[in-house]
Amino acid sequence: MKHFKETLYDAVCQEFRIDKMYFESKTEHQHLMIFHNAQLGRVMTLDGVVQTTEADEFVYHEMLAHVPIFAHGNAKRVLIVGGGDGGMIREVLKHPVEHVTQVEIDQAVVDMAIEYLPNHSDGAYEDPRLNLVIADGFDFVKQYADGDEARFDVIISDSTDPIGPGEVLFTDSFYAYAKRCLNPGGIMVTQNGVPFFQQDEIQTTYQRMGQQFEDMHFYCAPIPTYYGGFMTFAWGTDDLAARTRNVESLRAQFDELNLDTRYYNPEIHLAAFALPQYVKRSFKSE
Ligand code: SAM
Repeated sequence: MKHFKETLYDAVCQEFRIDKMYFESKTEHQHLMIFHNAQLGRVMTLDGVVQTTEADEFVYHEMLAHVPIFAHGNAKRVLIVGGGDGGMIREVLKHPVEHVTQVEIDQAVVDMAIEYLPNHSDGAYEDPRLNLVIADGFDFVKQYADGDEARFDVIISDSTDPIGPGEVLFTDSFYAYAKRCLNPGGIMVTQNGVPFFQQDEIQTTYQRMGQQFEDMHFYCAPIPTYYGGFMTFAWGTDDLAARTRNVESLRAQFDELNLDTRYYNPEIHLAAFALPQYVKRSFKSE
């Protein structure tokens, strides 16, 4: 029986039984595997790290897409950086947005996900509102920041961890260029690791991304295969009211859209910004 052993941390690791291998190869940028596990369904890994599983992807994608879009209240243009498995465009395109640009570095991730993880994108790659760009997200925002094309209302960084090709998406300059791609009052969110194990990440993001935004905070959700407790998502905006919208107004928008979610709802949205002391202390001295 073959197993996949995650290599994210030195001292601890999780292991998955591989019940069927669908794809395993080195792409131009990273080592990609997609296999079946009896408990979790199809699992995608990059460079030895679990990226997404069919069983729990809904928590991650719903929380990284719906929280900023509902908080914004009138998002028309969304930029997604990374997200090659397609789950993020699926959730974002459920909103009445006019345009989504997705910048993914690795064409092979998109192609293999469409083939072996079709429920993730669920046809969203065919949506005419989507502009898929195969490029490095850092280079894209750097160039876009100096251009005169329309800005975005929401930016979602659905990246790998800050190792390998994803490292540039956690730098001071990435946040600075991304900020310049936003409309006034726009919101930026990023996947920011599991703070129990990746405490450094929350500290560095707070310092780096926090230089760009009036309101810098984190919100969280438990995603079982990102083990170690909940994951944090970084939140940055100059709209000080966006984080504390009242539950009735979120509820009205949510009901109007008639979203069929499995994790997200307006109460979870607001509650997700409440952080335990050990997390708060890791980025703020209180
Ligand atoms: N949900 C996962 C997690 O929490 O770790 C991440 C999802 S995975 C889809 C992240 C994607 O980011 C991958 O498809 C990878 O190819 C892409 N990526 C990594 N570095 C990138 C970069 N510099 N520019 C654009 N996409 C990048």
